[in-house]
Amino acid sequence: MTRTRKKILEILETAETPLSALGVEARTLSSCDTATVYRSLHYLEEQGLADSFVLFCREHGTERYYVANSAKHRHWFHCEVCHRFVDLGECRVEPLLSQMEAATGVRIRSHTLYATGTCADCLHAGQQAASRSHQEGEYPRQGE
Ligand SMILES: [Zn+2]
Ligand SMILES: [Zn+2]
Ligand SMILES: [Zn+2]
Repeated sequence: MTRTRKKILEILETAETPLSALGVEARTLSSCDTATVYRSLHYLEEQGLADSFVLFCREHGTERYYVANSAKHRHWFHCEVCHRFVDLGECRVEPLLSQMEAATGVRIRSHTLYATGTCADCLHAGQQAASRSHQEGEYPRQGE
């Protein structure tokens, strides 16, 4: 494996969240150009060293995100407010997939699942803002 590919694999392995190609490029401190990053990611995925999924979000549009395959297979949540990834933990859908295999006779090789919505921090911030405006409504300012 070339040094660049090794480095990019290392970036994926040490990342705490899935990374887009641009995110990977940023972590190479721009020592790799975009085309090299894309080619290397493609190579790593072909070799089964990396995995990717495509996620749509209004802020970023449709983007492909990469994770290293050395990490335990897990699923991710993307917050539509702050655009962070939250680790949902180890895969718990495998028993369900086995049932689907048994019911349909297909052989499942891989699956993709991600969730989107509002993260705990953003939910909390939203609740605070809502209760503030509620209070302002309840108690009109004096002297008006
Ligand atoms: Zn959030
Ligand atoms: Zn986003
Ligand atoms: Zn899974």
